[in-house]
Amino acid sequence: MNYPYLLFDADNTLFDFDKANRTAFSAVCTEHDIPDTEENFRTYEQCNARMWAAFDRGEVTKDFLVVQRYRDFLAAIGLDRSAEGCNHTHLTTLGISNVLLPYAEEVCRELSRTHTLYLVTNAVASVQRERLRRSTIVPYITDAFISEEAGAAKPSTAYFDYVFAHIDGITRENCIVIGDSLSSDIKGANNYGLPCCWYNPKGAARPTDLRIDYEITDLRQLFDIV
Ligand SMILES: [Mg+2]
Repeated sequence: MNYPYLLFDADNTLFDFDKANRTAFSAVCTEHDIPDTEENFRTYEQCNARMWAAFDRGEVTKDFLVVQRYRDFLAAIGLDRSAEGCNHTHLTTLGISNVLLPYAEEVCRELSRTHTLYLVTNAVASVQRERLRRSTIVPYITDAFISEEAGAAKPSTAYFDYVFAHIDGITRENCIVIGDSLSSDIKGANNYGLPCCWYNPKGAARPTDLRIDYEITDLRQLFDIV
């Protein structure tokens, strides 16, 4: 066995976050009488991305950004609705959306017989705990390390300090980070000196400025790596 400790990213690595997010936006539209169009969804996504970028720069808090993204969106489309209400619907729906990506359940089940599995995820804790609780992979996951509870996020070394402090026996050699995000998962593994596997199902171009030890397009390829 190469890597007894597996550190899985959650969103878009095991969970189909894109689908869950679109479902959540539709629920917001239904509940708050907003036209559920692709154009409106794109506008929301732009407002959301702008706020998360501000969060990554340390300019806003998470509690502020989740409501502000809806304030910005509602202003952009010229509708007078409660941003707090929209965000509440969004987060509640996200929490109950636990759609897994192809083979995620099978891979977690098989690997949990021989390995110890953890989630390493940048997320809103209440949403991620609820989603995990409802998911069929919960029996296979030993623990979940959520950025909001850690007080730090991937790719920071402080986040991985938190993870390492909570796993007995883990070393920089006996674990591997598995994730879809270059900027958080792979960068985080590079920053902390951990082996890493890039889950790249859409075949995105490989960057030259990051160390990528393994690249997979299908989670079942992990059986040969770990
Ligand atoms: Mg991800």
